[in-house]
Amino acid sequence: MRKFDGDTLLVATHNAGKLEEIAALLKPYRVDVIGAAEKGLSEPAETETTFVGNARIKAHAAAQATGLPALADDSGIEIDALGGAPGVFTADWAETETGRDFVMAMTRAHEELLDSGASRPWTARFCCTLVLAWPDGHDEVFPGHVAGQITWPMRGSEGHGYDPVFMPDGYDITFGQMDRWEKNRISHRADAFARLVAGCFG
Ligand code: IMP
Repeated sequence: MRKFDGDTLLVATHNAGKLEEIAALLKPYRVDVIGAAEKGLSEPAETETTFVGNARIKAHAAAQATGLPALADDSGIEIDALGGAPGVFTADWAETETGRDFVMAMTRAHEELLDSGASRPWTARFCCTLVLAWPDGHDEVFPGHVAGQITWPMRGSEGHGYDPVFMPDGYDITFGQMDRWEKNRISHRADAFARLVAGCFG
């Protein structure tokens, strides 16, 4: 496992929220965190069919373009009765001509579950894969997940994306009803970050 021993880490995201979250997490390690927008990077096409494949595309493109170690993530939800869908297409299911509509995406997932005839619980997991890539082409991969089930109707207004229909194992509330601190403690992203920090920043 290669350790991160530089002073500056490029985070391959244009999402200001993600950047802030990662900077806060790495604060104890005295790392300067900069975002893709600051370096004027464009977003590469995510042409792979796995989370790790797409995270690798983003991390390596950013490391090559800047000469800095770069961190990227790819995430989504896998629903067992739908053969793992939407998976890497999680965001695509919400795409409309006027932006993302997650009520539409959650409704589609529910309708496909009803059509499938699958009995409850509708088991599912949120997945997050982090890839840290260096300009010399080396990378380290950290997968994270949180297991749970799809519930209906949607509940709660916290969080984002598919949170209102995802109930993590051991809870009787959805991510949409959970306070942000609690979700960030148990989420797929927290799991992947714990592995990243232990592997490369410990
Ligand atoms: P990406 O990794 O930024 O491509 O995002 C993948 C998609 O997965 C997001 O647009 C969300 O729809 C979904 N997603 C990822 N993490 C979460 C989460 O914590 N809650 C709800 N939806 C999520």
